[in-house]
Amino acid sequence: MSVRQRLYEGKAKILYTTDDPDVLLSYFKDDATAFNAQKRGTIQGKGAVNCAITAHLFRLLEEQGIPTHFIDQSSDREMQVRSVKILPLEVVVRNIAAGSLCQQTGLALGTVLNQPLVEFYYKNDALGDPLLTRDRLLLLELATPDQLDELRSRALQINQVLTDFFQQCDITLVDFKLEFGLDKHQRLILADEISPDTCRLWNQAETDPDRRVMDKDRFRRDLGDVESAYQQVLKKIRSPKQ
Ligand code: UDP
Repeated sequence: MSVRQRLYEGKAKILYTTDDPDVLLSYFKDDATAFNAQKRGTIQGKGAVNCAITAHLFRLLEEQGIPTHFIDQSSDREMQVRSVKILPLEVVVRNIAAGSLCQQTGLALGTVLNQPLVEFYYKNDALGDPLLTRDRLLLLELATPDQLDELRSRALQINQVLTDFFQQCDITLVDFKLEFGLDKHQRLILADEISPDTCRLWNQAETDPDRRVMDKDRFRRDLGDVESAYQQVLKKIRSPKQ
């Protein structure tokens, strides 16, 4: 498969077209951003580790019957993915209160939610990715009512698979962000990535609230050891307890 041209460059990945119009190549960069790109940096080796983690988790989800855009990992930083039209939505699932949920509701960090919370954010940097209500989402025609129901049930299904899997790896899945696209048959497909850049992951072997953090909060909050935390996630997911 030969790579043709750069289609899109985002904060953490570059998408290239290939000689097959249905297949794109996703290249994972070491660049890191936070707070709507106000904070920028590099996490050495992040591209490779996030590519490996995403490939692992997308394979796991496919095995559980959840369609993803993942086809194959073609190098340590690259994966072949199905071409989809990305919906301009960030679907966030939360099991434990952290981040903006705490800031906006006053819930204490670490509060276990009595059921998973699914939220939709408008993927729009100029507007600062605002939280949407259902009615605003429909007003802006970002998805149809049926797609919205499907997104919600798909997100909850993914949460169940990932929560159970991370539990086997002694990791708590606090919250995460998903992106979905539509394929040429208008089917909803999980796309983008699932990695420590897009999840909050807490090491169950640590009780200290800073030491347990294995995700991009280490970068956001300057906690140090970012590279090694990401590497540790990969190591742990490669040897889950049965
Ligand atoms: N998230 C993400 N990309 C974004 C916003 C959030 O991957 O543009 C992830 C984030 O890493 C966390 C979850 O979504 O796992 C919930 O993030 P939150 O709304 O708490 O925002 P933050 O605290 O990151 O501003």
